[in-house]
Amino acid sequence: MTTSKVRRIFRAYVKNPVAPDRLEVHDPGYLVVAEGKIEKLSHEDPRSQFPSAEFVDLDGKVIMPGFIDTHVHLPQLAIVGTGGDLLTWLNTYTYPEEARFADPEYAARISKQFFDEMIANGTTTAAIYCSVHEEATDIAFSTAQAAGVRAYIGKVMMDRNSPPALQESADDSIAASLRLFEKWDGAEGGRLRYVFTPRFAGSCSMDLMKRAGQLAGERGAFVQSHLSENAGEVEWVRRLFPDSPSYSAVYDSAHLLSERCIMAHCIHLSPDEISLLAARRTNVAFCPYSNRNLHSGTMPYRTLRDAGLNISLGTDIAGGPSLSMLLQINEAMNAVGITFGEALYLATLGGAMTLGISDTVGNFMPGKDADFVVVHGESIEEVYLHGRRVYF
Ligand SMILES: [Zn+2]
Repeated sequence: MTTSKVRRIFRAYVKNPVAPDRLEVHDPGYLVVAEGKIEKLSHEDPRSQFPSAEFVDLDGKVIMPGFIDTHVHLPQLAIVGTGGDLLTWLNTYTYPEEARFADPEYAARISKQFFDEMIANGTTTAAIYCSVHEEATDIAFSTAQAAGVRAYIGKVMMDRNSPPALQESADDSIAASLRLFEKWDGAEGGRLRYVFTPRFAGSCSMDLMKRAGQLAGERGAFVQSHLSENAGEVEWVRRLFPDSPSYSAVYDSAHLLSERCIMAHCIHLSPDEISLLAARRTNVAFCPYSNRNLHSGTMPYRTLRDAGLNISLGTDIAGGPSLSMLLQINEAMNAVGITFGEALYLATLGGAMTLGISDTVGNFMPGKDADFVVVHGESIEEVYLHGRRVYF
């Protein structure tokens, strides 16, 4: 028995990022979607080629790839709008809120809100920090699974310099992370991945970071953390690890830096640190709105890009004030003076490169997943996951 392919042709103004300095624009463009995949993107009307396809005319609207947010904290959704200096902000707002995730009902409620809001903002893939709680992280995975998004999620690890409600032993942290890894990494045909998530060098012992680095390396798993966000934090980490030549070198000695590692911020780096990150092919999550909100400084975007580092964009709520990647694109353009095309690349294909899935998502190359957004004016009007419209 054969069934004919369900095929749709979308006509719109299509923006297709193909490189940091190259944005293809189709005005109008015809995006052909079949079986959840991109079949074709063309300037010519393909309706005669596919006479049975459904035609969707989005004249006057813009189609872009689904956004990829490579740095965001799910348990901070309820404290969006707070700010201040990083270390004070963590203790005043962030840690008390994250402690509430010991309650599974609360974790379930915020997780649902988070993924609903993420999709409503056109984000179809994200790398996400949960809290230290194993059950809350498990709930975040289940919620991502139900939402149908592509998600890289990790339980935060912290075994020192943390409030008692959030501090764990290195043994417990490793054991819980490993259980979550085994349950979720690669689930949903690879749409869900586990990420080992030592919060940052200030809240992790070298023993914990080394064990996390070893596990991630052995299993080919992703790692995410924060690096050199704020001058006070950099000074504090220097005092915590006096024998280390630099903040980046602390992570390197734990074998955390690799092509499967995402380091957020990377603002106050020395030339040696930039060379080290480039040698390890570490990915950088650029979070300009958060950097402004927490008075952290401006990431040396061009220096990092020209050193060969792969860069993508992160909303970093609640350091950043919004889950909107459109706002983040605008903020990136203002912060470091890049074009819309380059900022859109960071928010899409750059994120896919970071997550090792540039053959699957990130733009409209034939064969990729049909994850895309329809933008009208400045608002996200429609979101498609695997070619299927998601209502929000
Ligand atoms: Zn962060």
